[in-house]
Amino acid sequence: MVFLTRRERFCCAHRLYKEEWSDKKNLEVFGKCSNANWHGHNYVLYVTVKGEIKEETGYVVNLKSLSSLIETHVINKLDHKNMNLEVDFMKGKIASTENLAIAIWEVLEPHIIKLDIELHRIKVEETENNFVEYFG
Ligand SMILES: [Zn+2]
Repeated sequence: MVFLTRRERFCCAHRLYKEEWSDKKNLEVFGKCSNANWHGHNYVLYVTVKGEIKEETGYVVNLKSLSSLIETHVINKLDHKNMNLEVDFMKGKIASTENLAIAIWEVLEPHIIKLDIELHRIKVEETENNFVEYFG
């Protein structure tokens, strides 16, 4: 079994908040990320897949196929968008890095299986110091 990781980057606006809470409570719980007028992060996404090396190609998977799949289903939907308002797979969810990592897994997994490999990990970095890993 060989593990392979593709890194992608995207910029996205969001706000962490609960509508039923006051601005004060949102600020207490979510800090700066609850700013009512939005803010953005430069996110880094790592998609790790696993599989056996194909004798014919020496590859686990053609990286071009993997990257275009990630671009179509994830990056194009998030990059330079508002995560709360414009991203279909984040609708109705708190726009946290945790929820984002799980949503990206759910979006990508059915497509990745078709490439004859398995999804192993989604890692999302929101800042240099904070990142989330999800293993399904
Ligand atoms: Zn934030």
